[in-house]
Amino acid sequence: MNQTQLIVSKFGGTSMGDAQCMLRSAEVSFKQATKCIVVSATSGTTNDLIDLAKSAEKSSWEKTQAVILKIKTKHEKIARDLELSDQDFMIMQAMFSEMESMARGINLLVDCSNKAMDSILSFGERLSSILFTQAMNLVLAKNKSSIKAVCLDVREILKTDNQFGKARPLTNEIKNLCDKKLGAIRHEDIIYVTQGFIGQTVEGMTTTLGRGGSDYTAAIIAEGIKADVLEIWTDVAGIATTDPRICPEARSIPEISFKEASELATFGAKILHPATLVPAIRSQIPVFVGSSFNPDSGGTWIKKDVEDSPLIRAMALRKKQVLVTLSTPEMLNSHGFLFQIFKIFNDHKVSVDAITTSEISVSMTLEESALNNRELFSDLENLAVVNVEENLSLVSLIGNNINHTPGLGKKIFNAIDGINVRMICLGASKHNFCFIVDGSKGEEAITRLHKTFIG
Ligand code: ASP
Ligand code: MG
Repeated sequence: MNQTQLIVSKFGGTSMGDAQCMLRSAEVSFKQATKCIVVSATSGTTNDLIDLAKSAEKSSWEKTQAVILKIKTKHEKIARDLELSDQDFMIMQAMFSEMESMARGINLLVDCSNKAMDSILSFGERLSSILFTQAMNLVLAKNKSSIKAVCLDVREILKTDNQFGKARPLTNEIKNLCDKKLGAIRHEDIIYVTQGFIGQTVEGMTTTLGRGGSDYTAAIIAEGIKADVLEIWTDVAGIATTDPRICPEARSIPEISFKEASELATFGAKILHPATLVPAIRSQIPVFVGSSFNPDSGGTWIKKDVEDSPLIRAMALRKKQVLVTLSTPEMLNSHGFLFQIFKIFNDHKVSVDAITTSEISVSMTLEESALNNRELFSDLENLAVVNVEENLSLVSLIGNNINHTPGLGKKIFNAIDGINVRMICLGASKHNFCFIVDGSKGEEAITRLHKTFIG
């Protein structure tokens, strides 16, 4: 146990699956002497809540009630298994009533706005955090600790803008509120258990940070309370060299630098919410990713300085990519064309991942979901001829000194001999080499590259 370090730990949905998972996760926290715990909803609950909101909007009240019952039953079972106090049980019941009233409102109005959706989604984390506080107190009592776990409503601290569904944290407000409410956390005999994923506008409306956002919450709080370490506990022992479902030879990476890890998180490794590293990098907080099911099986450290810097450390596959190519002779010998293109993407808040240009055309990759954005495409069509290719995959190699290593390109293309490369991105970063292949070839490319570079 390390008493001197201030640790923030986050437990994901699978680590919160049932009473047994919660107790196991609480044991991990106890061993680590964590002072602040950020939890996700119990596994599957966020999806159930989405079903709830959609069913309230689109189906009968009877069907909606069935979803409510499913959510209630699951949480009440955990509550009984953990011997939740009558007082906390009442708090949970009050949440169920509130959730039901909101669903009824959606059902009557036949309207589920993003704002309403966020309020509904918040119940996942609000419920799981009450249950986890109890699990933590059981573990503390068993170990005869004088410390108590208390449940903190993260909305008192995590202020955001009002982009419901993908709200952005208001960093300065959060820092001030962390000082005010958690300024003494290092010295208090209290463990704070709080919710990931949810936040609140300054006007008091509930928001969410986007799917998988609990990691991000934990990093924001770690930064706010000036923690020494951020731990992300999940169901796998760290970040793997590639997705083990694609390549069974994949193995856990002991350590990786912030820069490599941000490329990896953005370019496909599903293990961390891509924004998580932003506060950690900004405040230089080392991040540990480990398995709550098997805490002693090691994990991955993500930090500023790492001991070794291999040429290729990991690789990732991002499916469902589209390649958009814009061409116009007006680009010839002119300036400001790229500015006009990216202004359109900015206006529509669509993010572009990989880009390449020639004299009269620009190609860029987008998530497939961007195709639903008709206004974006109509604005682009006003500027240039737009060509869209679908069903592509983005393959990324992550490592060090990638743009200064002679012979690397040859080795990569030998490894994937016979697979057509539709677009390449190299040079912008020392840490990333990525290219686009047909969707049906992505897994094969990863498997061959993994064999060549990682073994
Ligand atoms: N419960 C939320 C989700 O499933 C947030 C998270 O787990 O990180 O997306
Ligand atoms: Mg999650």
